[in-house]
Amino acid sequence: MPTESPRQDAELFRRQAHEIVDWMADYLSQVGRRPVQPSAPPGTVRSALPKSPPPVAESFEQIMADFERVIVPGLTHCGHPGFFAYFPANNSPPSILAEMLTAAIGAQCMSWNTSPAATELEQVTMEWLRQMLGLSEQFTGVIQDTASTATLVAMITARDATLGREGGKAAGRVDRLTAYTTLEANHSVPKGMRLAGFRPEHIRMVETGPENAMLPGALQLAIANDKAAGLTPAAVVATVGTTGSTAIDPVPAIAGIAGREGLWLHVDAAWAGSAAIVPEMRWIFAGVERADSVVFNPHKWMLVNFDCTAFFVRDTDALLRSFATSPVFLKAAYDDRVVNFRDWGIQLGRRFRALKLWFVIRTYGVQGLQAMIREHIRLGALLGRWVREDPEFELMAPSPLALVVFRYLGRESGNAGRRDGEIDAMNERLLAALHATGKIMLTQTRLKGKYAIRLALGHLTTTEDDVRKAWQLIKEAARKLVPGSPDPRIP
Ligand code: PLP
Repeated sequence: MPTESPRQDAELFRRQAHEIVDWMADYLSQVGRRPVQPSAPPGTVRSALPKSPPPVAESFEQIMADFERVIVPGLTHCGHPGFFAYFPANNSPPSILAEMLTAAIGAQCMSWNTSPAATELEQVTMEWLRQMLGLSEQFTGVIQDTASTATLVAMITARDATLGREGGKAAGRVDRLTAYTTLEANHSVPKGMRLAGFRPEHIRMVETGPENAMLPGALQLAIANDKAAGLTPAAVVATVGTTGSTAIDPVPAIAGIAGREGLWLHVDAAWAGSAAIVPEMRWIFAGVERADSVVFNPHKWMLVNFDCTAFFVRDTDALLRSFATSPVFLKAAYDDRVVNFRDWGIQLGRRFRALKLWFVIRTYGVQGLQAMIREHIRLGALLGRWVREDPEFELMAPSPLALVVFRYLGRESGNAGRRDGEIDAMNERLLAALHATGKIMLTQTRLKGKYAIRLALGHLTTTEDDVRKAWQLIKEAARKLVPGSPDPRIP
Protein backbone atom coordinates (compact mmCIF):
# COMPACT_ATOMS: atom_id res chain seq x y z
CA MET A 1 0.00 0.00 0.00
CA PRO A 2 1.28 3.47 -0.79
CA THR A 3 1.83 5.63 2.24
CA GLU A 4 0.88 9.29 2.52
CA SER A 5 3.96 10.35 4.46
CA PRO A 6 7.26 8.56 3.86
CA ARG A 7 8.30 6.20 6.62
CA GLN A 8 10.18 2.99 6.82
CA ASP A 9 8.29 -0.26 6.97
CA ALA A 10 10.72 -3.16 7.30
CA GLU A 11 8.23 -5.88 6.39
CA LEU A 12 6.98 -4.05 3.31
CA PHE A 13 10.59 -3.46 2.24
CA ARG A 14 11.41 -7.16 2.77
CA ARG A 15 8.52 -8.29 0.56
CA GLN A 16 9.29 -5.81 -2.22
CA ALA A 17 13.00 -6.56 -2.08
CA HIS A 18 12.33 -10.29 -2.47
CA GLU A 19 10.15 -9.55 -5.46
CA ILE A 20 12.89 -7.46 -7.01
CA VAL A 21 15.50 -10.14 -6.40
CA ASP A 22 13.24 -12.60 -8.22
CA TRP A 23 12.95 -10.13 -11.08
CA MET A 24 16.75 -9.72 -11.15
CA ALA A 25 17.40 -13.48 -11.23
CA ASP A 26 14.94 -13.90 -14.12
CA TYR A 27 16.41 -10.95 -15.97
CA LEU A 28 19.96 -12.26 -15.66
CA SER A 29 19.05 -15.73 -16.88
CA GLN A 30 16.75 -14.58 -19.71
CA VAL A 31 18.29 -11.35 -20.99
CA GLY A 32 19.25 -13.10 -24.25
CA ARG A 33 15.55 -13.32 -25.20
CA ARG A 34 15.26 -9.54 -25.42
CA PRO A 35 16.49 -7.38 -28.31
CA VAL A 36 20.01 -6.34 -27.37
CA GLN A 37 19.16 -2.67 -27.95
CA PRO A 38 15.88 -0.82 -28.41
CA SER A 39 14.66 0.01 -31.88
CA ALA A 40 12.11 2.68 -30.87
CA PRO A 41 12.96 6.25 -31.99
CA PRO A 42 14.28 8.94 -29.65
CA GLY A 43 11.61 10.40 -27.37
CA THR A 44 9.68 7.11 -27.02
CA VAL A 45 10.42 6.69 -23.32
CA ARG A 46 9.88 10.35 -22.43
CA SER A 47 6.54 10.46 -24.20
CA ALA A 48 5.36 7.39 -22.26
CA LEU A 49 6.02 9.08 -18.91
CA PRO A 50 4.01 11.82 -17.15
CA LYS A 51 5.32 15.35 -17.68
CA SER A 52 4.95 16.23 -13.98
CA PRO A 53 5.81 14.34 -10.80
CA PRO A 54 3.03 12.43 -9.02
CA PRO A 55 1.43 14.65 -6.34
CA VAL A 56 0.54 11.64 -4.20
CA ALA A 57 2.22 8.35 -3.45
CA GLU A 58 2.01 5.57 -6.02
CA SER A 59 2.21 1.88 -5.27
CA PHE A 60 5.24 -0.36 -5.72
CA GLU A 61 3.14 -2.46 -8.12
CA GLN A 62 2.39 0.57 -10.34
CA ILE A 63 6.02 1.64 -10.36
CA MET A 64 7.27 -1.87 -11.20
CA ALA A 65 4.66 -2.24 -13.94
CA ASP A 66 5.89 0.96 -15.60
CA PHE A 67 9.48 -0.13 -15.08
CA GLU A 68 8.77 -3.29 -17.08
CA ARG A 69 6.48 -1.63 -19.63
CA VAL A 70 8.42 1.59 -20.34
CA ILE A 71 11.93 1.50 -18.95
CA VAL A 72 13.23 -2.01 -19.66
CA PRO A 73 12.26 -2.03 -23.36
CA GLY A 74 14.09 1.28 -23.69
CA LEU A 75 17.38 -0.13 -22.43
CA THR A 76 20.47 -1.49 -24.16
CA HIS A 77 21.35 -4.74 -22.42
CA CYS A 78 25.09 -4.86 -21.78
CA GLY A 79 24.84 -8.38 -20.33
CA HIS A 80 23.08 -9.72 -23.45
CA PRO A 81 24.99 -12.59 -25.14
CA GLY A 82 24.92 -10.52 -28.36
CA PHE A 83 26.41 -7.38 -26.76
CA PHE A 84 29.89 -6.94 -28.22
CA ALA A 85 29.88 -3.14 -28.47
CA TYR A 86 32.29 -0.56 -26.98
CA PHE A 87 34.13 -2.39 -24.22
CA PRO A 88 32.00 -4.45 -21.88
CA ALA A 89 30.66 -2.72 -18.78
CA ASN A 90 30.18 -5.98 -17.02
CA ASN A 91 28.78 -7.17 -13.74
CA SER A 92 28.33 -10.43 -11.87
CA PRO A 93 26.11 -11.84 -9.13
CA PRO A 94 28.51 -11.04 -6.24
CA SER A 95 28.99 -7.51 -7.50
CA ILE A 96 25.23 -6.98 -7.78
CA LEU A 97 24.68 -8.31 -4.27
CA ALA A 98 27.36 -6.01 -2.88
CA GLU A 99 25.73 -3.06 -4.67
CA MET A 100 22.48 -3.95 -2.92
CA LEU A 101 24.23 -3.87 0.45
CA THR A 102 25.95 -0.60 -0.45
CA ALA A 103 22.61 0.93 -1.33
CA ALA A 104 21.06 -0.28 1.91
CA ILE A 105 23.87 1.06 4.04
CA GLY A 106 24.06 4.33 2.12
CA ALA A 107 27.64 4.80 3.26
CA GLN A 108 29.37 8.09 2.60
CA CYS A 109 33.07 7.46 2.06
CA MET A 110 34.62 10.90 1.85
CA SER A 111 36.69 10.55 5.04
CA TRP A 112 37.93 7.72 7.22
CA ASN A 113 35.73 9.18 9.92
CA THR A 114 32.52 8.93 7.86
CA SER A 115 32.99 5.22 7.13
CA PRO A 116 36.15 3.73 8.68
CA ALA A 117 35.53 0.23 7.29
CA ALA A 118 34.94 1.60 3.78
CA THR A 119 38.24 3.49 3.78
CA GLU A 120 40.19 0.55 5.15
CA LEU A 121 38.51 -1.92 2.79
CA GLU A 122 39.44 0.40 -0.09
CA GLN A 123 43.05 0.33 1.08
CA VAL A 124 42.99 -3.47 1.35
CA THR A 125 41.33 -4.13 -2.02
CA MET A 126 43.57 -1.68 -3.83
CA GLU A 127 46.59 -3.39 -2.29
CA TRP A 128 45.18 -6.75 -3.48
CA LEU A 129 44.75 -5.32 -6.98
CA ARG A 130 48.29 -3.93 -6.95
CA GLN A 131 49.59 -7.40 -6.20
CA MET A 132 47.31 -8.98 -8.80
CA LEU A 133 48.68 -6.63 -11.48
CA GLY A 134 52.28 -7.18 -10.40
CA LEU A 135 52.80 -3.45 -9.80
CA SER A 136 55.65 -2.49 -7.50
CA GLU A 137 55.08 -1.55 -3.85
CA GLN A 138 55.86 2.05 -4.79
CA PHE A 139 52.29 2.38 -6.08
CA THR A 140 49.34 3.18 -3.86
CA GLY A 141 45.80 2.82 -5.09
CA VAL A 142 42.57 4.75 -4.74
CA ILE A 143 39.18 4.06 -6.31
CA GLN A 144 37.84 6.70 -8.68
CA ASP A 145 34.50 6.68 -10.45
CA THR A 146 35.80 6.39 -14.01
CA ALA A 147 39.02 6.25 -15.98
CA SER A 148 38.13 9.68 -17.38
CA THR A 149 38.21 11.15 -13.89
CA ALA A 150 41.42 9.30 -12.99
CA THR A 151 43.15 10.65 -16.10
CA LEU A 152 41.96 14.18 -15.30
CA VAL A 153 43.30 13.77 -11.75
CA ALA A 154 46.63 12.55 -13.18
CA MET A 155 46.83 15.54 -15.55
CA ILE A 156 46.08 18.04 -12.79
CA THR A 157 48.77 16.43 -10.63
CA ALA A 158 51.23 16.45 -13.54
CA ARG A 159 50.49 20.14 -14.16
CA ASP A 160 51.01 21.10 -10.53
CA ALA A 161 54.11 18.94 -10.15
CA THR A 162 55.69 20.62 -13.18
CA LEU A 163 54.70 24.12 -12.12
CA GLY A 164 55.95 23.44 -8.59
CA ARG A 165 59.29 22.23 -9.92
CA GLU A 166 59.60 25.15 -12.31
CA GLY A 167 58.95 27.52 -9.42
CA GLY A 168 58.45 31.12 -10.45
CA LYS A 169 60.24 30.65 -13.77
CA ALA A 170 58.38 32.02 -16.79
CA ALA A 171 58.80 28.62 -18.47
CA GLY A 172 56.63 27.13 -15.73
CA ARG A 173 53.48 29.06 -16.56
CA VAL A 174 50.50 26.85 -17.23
CA ASP A 175 49.96 28.37 -20.65
CA ARG A 176 53.46 27.18 -21.61
CA LEU A 177 52.93 23.52 -20.63
CA THR A 178 52.68 20.80 -23.25
CA ALA A 179 51.24 17.28 -23.07
CA TYR A 180 51.57 14.26 -25.37
CA THR A 181 49.42 11.33 -26.40
CA THR A 182 48.19 9.84 -29.71
CA LEU A 183 45.06 10.03 -31.83
CA GLU A 184 44.39 6.43 -30.77
CA ALA A 185 44.10 7.46 -27.10
CA ASN A 186 40.59 7.50 -25.70
CA HIS A 187 38.98 10.92 -26.12
CA SER A 188 38.97 11.20 -22.32
CA VAL A 189 42.76 11.72 -22.49
CA PRO A 190 42.92 14.99 -24.48
CA LYS A 191 39.76 16.04 -22.66
CA GLY A 192 41.48 15.50 -19.30
CA MET A 193 44.49 17.45 -20.53
CA ARG A 194 42.29 20.37 -21.62
CA LEU A 195 40.32 20.35 -18.37
CA ALA A 196 43.60 20.39 -16.44
CA GLY A 197 44.46 23.66 -18.16
CA PHE A 198 46.72 22.52 -20.99
CA ARG A 199 46.00 24.77 -23.95
CA PRO A 200 44.46 22.83 -26.85
CA GLU A 201 47.24 23.96 -29.17
CA HIS A 202 49.80 22.52 -26.72
CA ILE A 203 48.32 19.00 -26.71
CA ARG A 204 50.37 16.92 -29.12
CA MET A 205 49.02 13.90 -30.99
CA VAL A 206 52.22 11.94 -31.47
CA GLU A 207 52.50 9.86 -34.63
CA THR A 208 51.65 6.16 -34.44
CA GLY A 209 53.19 3.21 -36.29
CA PRO A 210 51.55 0.55 -38.45
CA GLU A 211 50.06 -1.17 -35.40
CA ASN A 212 48.53 2.08 -34.08
CA ALA A 213 50.99 2.44 -31.19
CA MET A 214 52.95 5.59 -30.33
CA LEU A 215 56.33 5.99 -32.04
CA PRO A 216 58.86 6.88 -29.30
CA GLY A 217 61.10 8.66 -31.83
CA ALA A 218 58.18 10.93 -32.75
CA LEU A 219 57.56 11.65 -29.06
CA GLN A 220 61.21 12.56 -28.53
CA LEU A 221 61.14 14.85 -31.54
CA ALA A 222 57.93 16.59 -30.45
CA ILE A 223 59.41 17.22 -26.99
CA ALA A 224 62.63 18.60 -28.49
CA ASN A 225 60.69 20.92 -30.81
CA ASP A 226 58.55 22.19 -27.93
CA LYS A 227 61.58 22.83 -25.73
CA ALA A 228 63.27 24.68 -28.59
CA ALA A 229 60.14 26.84 -28.85
CA GLY A 230 60.42 27.75 -25.15
CA LEU A 231 57.54 25.50 -24.01
CA THR A 232 57.62 23.18 -20.98
CA PRO A 233 56.79 19.49 -21.65
CA ALA A 234 54.84 18.26 -18.61
CA ALA A 235 52.93 15.03 -19.24
CA VAL A 236 52.66 12.05 -21.53
CA VAL A 237 49.79 9.56 -21.56
CA ALA A 238 50.53 6.11 -22.96
CA THR A 239 47.71 3.69 -23.64
CA VAL A 240 47.86 -0.02 -22.94
CA GLY A 241 44.94 -1.30 -24.99
CA THR A 242 43.56 1.53 -27.12
CA THR A 243 39.80 1.80 -27.55
CA GLY A 244 39.96 1.42 -31.31
CA SER A 245 42.17 -1.64 -31.61
CA THR A 246 43.80 -2.48 -28.23
CA ALA A 247 47.14 -1.20 -29.50
CA ILE A 248 49.79 -1.13 -26.81
CA ASP A 249 52.05 1.91 -26.72
CA PRO A 250 55.73 1.03 -26.12
CA VAL A 251 55.73 2.01 -22.44
CA PRO A 252 59.38 1.02 -21.71
CA ALA A 253 60.68 3.46 -24.36
CA ILE A 254 58.14 6.14 -23.42
CA ALA A 255 59.09 5.78 -19.74
CA GLY A 256 62.75 6.26 -20.67
CA ILE A 257 61.93 9.51 -22.47
CA ALA A 258 59.58 10.72 -19.70
CA GLY A 259 62.26 9.97 -17.08
CA ARG A 260 65.01 11.82 -18.95
CA GLU A 261 62.81 14.81 -19.81
CA GLY A 262 61.05 15.09 -16.44
CA LEU A 263 57.51 14.38 -17.75
CA TRP A 264 54.73 12.80 -15.70
CA LEU A 265 53.91 9.44 -17.32
CA HIS A 266 50.31 8.31 -16.94
CA VAL A 267 49.32 4.90 -18.33
CA ASP A 268 45.72 4.43 -19.44
CA ALA A 269 44.98 0.70 -19.31
CA ALA A 270 41.25 1.25 -18.74
CA TRP A 271 40.12 -1.97 -20.40
CA ALA A 272 43.24 -4.02 -21.04
CA GLY A 273 44.64 -3.63 -17.52
CA SER A 274 42.53 -6.56 -16.33
CA ALA A 275 44.55 -8.86 -18.59
CA ALA A 276 47.69 -8.06 -16.58
CA ILE A 277 46.35 -10.20 -13.73
CA VAL A 278 47.05 -13.24 -15.96
CA PRO A 279 50.75 -14.10 -15.55
CA GLU A 280 51.34 -14.95 -19.22
CA MET A 281 49.72 -11.62 -20.23
CA ARG A 282 51.77 -9.53 -17.79
CA TRP A 283 53.97 -8.46 -20.74
CA ILE A 284 51.33 -5.85 -21.60
CA PHE A 285 52.43 -3.99 -18.45
CA ALA A 286 56.14 -3.94 -19.41
CA GLY A 287 57.54 -0.58 -18.37
CA VAL A 288 54.45 0.38 -16.37
CA GLU A 289 56.45 0.08 -13.15
CA ARG A 290 58.27 3.25 -14.26
CA ALA A 291 55.04 5.24 -14.74
CA ASP A 292 53.90 7.93 -12.31
CA SER A 293 50.28 6.84 -12.44
CA VAL A 294 48.22 4.01 -13.90
CA VAL A 295 44.51 3.54 -14.37
CA PHE A 296 42.40 0.48 -15.09
CA ASN A 297 38.71 -0.29 -14.79
CA PRO A 298 37.53 -3.35 -12.86
CA HIS A 299 34.13 -2.18 -14.17
CA LYS A 300 35.15 -3.05 -17.71
CA TRP A 301 36.66 -6.53 -17.64
CA MET A 302 36.77 -7.72 -14.05
CA LEU A 303 33.12 -8.36 -13.23
CA VAL A 304 32.58 -5.32 -11.02
CA ASN A 305 29.49 -3.22 -11.69
CA PHE A 306 29.94 0.21 -13.16
CA ASP A 307 31.44 2.29 -11.64
CA CYS A 308 34.79 1.24 -10.20
CA THR A 309 38.12 2.54 -11.44
CA ALA A 310 41.46 1.62 -9.91
CA PHE A 311 43.95 4.50 -9.95
CA PHE A 312 47.52 3.88 -8.81
CA VAL A 313 49.97 6.67 -8.07
CA ARG A 314 53.64 6.51 -7.19
CA ASP A 315 54.08 9.93 -5.55
CA THR A 316 51.04 10.28 -3.32
CA ASP A 317 52.47 13.52 -1.87
CA ALA A 318 52.23 15.10 -5.33
CA LEU A 319 48.62 13.95 -5.58
CA LEU A 320 47.78 15.32 -2.15
CA ARG A 321 49.43 18.66 -2.93
CA SER A 322 46.92 19.07 -5.77
CA PHE A 323 43.81 17.69 -4.07
CA ALA A 324 43.99 17.86 -0.28
CA THR A 325 41.80 20.39 1.46
CA SER A 326 40.99 20.61 5.13
CA PRO A 327 37.94 22.74 5.81
CA VAL A 328 37.05 23.10 9.45
CA PHE A 329 33.79 21.19 9.21
CA LEU A 330 35.61 18.08 7.99
CA LYS A 331 38.30 17.98 10.69
CA ALA A 332 38.25 14.78 12.74
CA ALA A 333 40.19 13.36 15.66
CA TYR A 334 42.26 10.81 13.73
CA ASP A 335 43.13 12.91 10.67
CA ASP A 336 46.88 12.64 11.24
CA ARG A 337 46.71 8.82 11.46
CA VAL A 338 44.32 7.91 8.67
CA VAL A 339 43.74 8.28 4.95
CA ASN A 340 40.94 10.58 3.87
CA PHE A 341 40.22 9.58 0.29
CA ARG A 342 38.40 12.86 -0.37
CA ASP A 343 41.96 14.26 -0.65
CA TRP A 344 42.89 11.82 -3.45
CA GLY A 345 40.62 13.12 -6.18
CA ILE A 346 37.95 15.58 -7.24
CA GLN A 347 34.88 14.39 -5.36
CA LEU A 348 34.09 15.16 -1.75
CA GLY A 349 31.27 12.65 -1.31
CA ARG A 350 32.27 9.14 -2.39
CA ARG A 351 30.37 5.88 -2.88
CA PHE A 352 31.36 2.64 -1.13
CA ARG A 353 32.85 1.01 -4.23
CA ALA A 354 35.37 -1.21 -2.47
CA LEU A 355 32.64 -3.53 -1.21
CA LYS A 356 31.72 -4.89 -4.65
CA LEU A 357 35.39 -5.26 -5.55
CA TRP A 358 35.92 -7.26 -2.35
CA PHE A 359 32.89 -9.47 -3.02
CA VAL A 360 34.06 -10.17 -6.58
CA ILE A 361 37.70 -10.92 -5.77
CA ARG A 362 36.70 -13.23 -2.90
CA THR A 363 33.91 -14.99 -4.78
CA TYR A 364 35.97 -15.90 -7.85
CA GLY A 365 39.45 -15.82 -6.33
CA VAL A 366 42.38 -14.57 -8.38
CA GLN A 367 42.49 -17.88 -10.25
CA GLY A 368 38.82 -17.67 -11.20
CA LEU A 369 39.28 -14.17 -12.62
CA GLN A 370 42.41 -15.24 -14.47
CA ALA A 371 40.53 -18.21 -15.97
CA MET A 372 37.75 -15.93 -17.24
CA ILE A 373 40.18 -13.50 -18.88
CA ARG A 374 42.17 -16.36 -20.44
CA GLU A 375 38.96 -17.74 -21.92
CA HIS A 376 37.98 -14.36 -23.40
CA ILE A 377 41.45 -14.00 -24.90
CA ARG A 378 41.13 -17.51 -26.37
CA LEU A 379 37.76 -16.60 -27.89
CA GLY A 380 39.21 -13.35 -29.29
CA ALA A 381 42.06 -15.31 -30.92
CA LEU A 382 39.58 -17.84 -32.32
CA LEU A 383 37.43 -15.15 -33.89
CA GLY A 384 40.55 -13.37 -35.15
CA ARG A 385 41.54 -16.64 -36.88
CA TRP A 386 38.09 -17.03 -38.48
CA VAL A 387 38.29 -13.47 -39.80
CA ARG A 388 41.84 -13.95 -41.12
CA GLU A 389 40.93 -17.18 -42.88
CA ASP A 390 37.90 -15.68 -44.67
CA PRO A 391 39.03 -13.93 -47.87
CA GLU A 392 35.90 -11.73 -47.86
CA PHE A 393 36.95 -10.14 -44.57
CA GLU A 394 40.03 -8.28 -43.42
CA LEU A 395 41.45 -8.28 -39.91
CA MET A 396 42.27 -4.61 -39.37
CA ALA A 397 44.62 -4.91 -36.40
CA PRO A 398 46.35 -7.58 -34.35
CA SER A 399 44.01 -8.97 -31.70
CA PRO A 400 46.23 -9.97 -28.75
CA LEU A 401 43.37 -9.43 -26.29
CA ALA A 402 39.64 -9.93 -26.58
CA LEU A 403 38.83 -7.28 -29.19
CA VAL A 404 38.61 -8.17 -32.86
CA VAL A 405 38.56 -5.36 -35.44
CA PHE A 406 37.63 -6.24 -39.00
CA ARG A 407 35.89 -5.08 -42.17
CA TYR A 408 33.99 -6.79 -44.97
CA LEU A 409 35.64 -6.54 -48.37
CA GLY A 410 32.88 -7.89 -50.56
CA ARG A 411 32.28 -11.04 -52.53
CA GLU A 412 34.93 -10.52 -55.19
CA SER A 413 38.27 -12.00 -54.27
CA GLY A 414 40.04 -9.57 -52.00
CA ASN A 415 39.24 -5.88 -52.23
CA ALA A 416 40.96 -5.40 -55.57
CA GLY A 417 39.25 -2.66 -57.51
CA ARG A 418 37.17 -1.38 -54.62
CA ARG A 419 38.06 1.95 -53.14
CA ASP A 420 38.24 2.44 -49.38
CA GLY A 421 35.29 4.85 -49.56
CA GLU A 422 33.06 2.14 -51.03
CA ILE A 423 34.27 -0.42 -48.51
CA ASP A 424 33.60 2.07 -45.70
CA ALA A 425 30.03 2.61 -46.92
CA MET A 426 29.45 -1.14 -47.27
CA ASN A 427 30.63 -1.76 -43.70
CA GLU A 428 28.43 1.02 -42.37
CA ARG A 429 25.49 -0.73 -44.01
CA LEU A 430 26.64 -4.06 -42.63
CA LEU A 431 26.65 -2.66 -39.09
CA ALA A 432 23.18 -1.17 -39.54
CA ALA A 433 21.91 -4.48 -40.93
CA LEU A 434 23.33 -6.37 -37.95
CA HIS A 435 21.73 -3.94 -35.50
CA ALA A 436 18.40 -4.26 -37.28
CA THR A 437 18.33 -7.96 -36.29
CA GLY A 438 18.16 -7.00 -32.60
CA LYS A 439 20.43 -9.97 -31.93
CA ILE A 440 23.82 -8.34 -31.82
CA MET A 441 25.40 -4.98 -31.03
CA LEU A 442 28.85 -3.92 -32.22
CA THR A 443 30.59 -0.56 -32.61
CA GLN A 444 32.66 1.03 -35.31
CA THR A 445 36.00 2.79 -35.36
CA ARG A 446 38.42 4.24 -37.88
CA LEU A 447 41.96 2.90 -38.14
CA LYS A 448 44.34 4.88 -40.32
CA GLY A 449 41.25 6.52 -41.78
CA LYS A 450 39.51 3.23 -42.67
CA TYR A 451 36.10 2.36 -41.25
CA ALA A 452 36.27 -0.84 -39.20
CA ILE A 453 33.88 -2.87 -37.05
CA ARG A 454 34.87 -3.77 -33.49
CA LEU A 455 33.72 -6.88 -31.65
CA ALA A 456 34.66 -6.73 -27.95
CA LEU A 457 34.33 -9.80 -25.74
CA GLY A 458 34.30 -9.85 -22.02
CA HIS A 459 31.08 -10.66 -20.24
CA LEU A 460 31.00 -13.28 -17.51
CA THR A 461 28.55 -15.39 -19.48
CA THR A 462 30.11 -15.13 -22.97
CA THR A 463 30.64 -18.59 -24.50
CA GLU A 464 32.27 -19.94 -27.65
CA ASP A 465 28.76 -20.62 -28.92
CA ASP A 466 27.87 -16.90 -28.56
CA VAL A 467 30.96 -15.93 -30.56
CA ARG A 468 30.29 -18.58 -33.22
CA LYS A 469 26.68 -17.36 -33.59
CA ALA A 470 27.86 -13.74 -33.83
CA TRP A 471 30.36 -14.61 -36.58
CA GLN A 472 27.70 -16.59 -38.44
CA LEU A 473 25.31 -13.66 -38.25
CA ILE A 474 27.99 -11.24 -39.47
CA LYS A 475 28.81 -13.44 -42.47
CA GLU A 476 25.15 -13.95 -43.36
CA ALA A 477 24.37 -10.25 -43.09
CA ALA A 478 27.45 -9.33 -45.15
CA ARG A 479 26.57 -11.71 -47.95
CA LYS A 480 23.00 -10.48 -48.10
CA LEU A 481 23.99 -6.85 -48.50
CA VAL A 482 22.58 -5.49 -51.73
CA PRO A 483 25.47 -3.75 -53.50
CA GLY A 484 25.02 0.01 -53.41
CA SER A 485 21.70 -0.17 -51.54
CA PRO A 486 21.26 2.37 -48.77
CA ASP A 487 18.68 0.10 -47.11
CA PRO A 488 20.22 -1.31 -43.92
CA ARG A 489 17.76 -4.19 -43.68
CA ILE A 490 18.84 -7.63 -44.68
CA PRO A 491 16.75 -8.41 -47.75
N1 PLP B 1 40.49 4.82 -21.69
C1 PLP B 1 40.24 3.81 -22.56
C2 PLP B 1 41.39 3.14 -23.26
C3 PLP B 1 38.92 3.40 -22.81
O1 PLP B 1 38.67 2.43 -23.69
C4 PLP B 1 37.87 4.07 -22.13
C5 PLP B 1 36.48 3.68 -22.36
O2 PLP B 1 36.17 2.77 -23.08
C6 PLP B 1 38.18 5.10 -21.23
C7 PLP B 1 39.50 5.45 -21.04
C8 PLP B 1 37.11 5.84 -20.48
O3 PLP B 1 36.64 5.02 -19.46
P1 PLP B 1 35.56 5.56 -18.40
O4 PLP B 1 34.23 5.32 -19.03
O5 PLP B 1 35.79 4.71 -17.18
O6 PLP B 1 35.83 6.99 -18.17
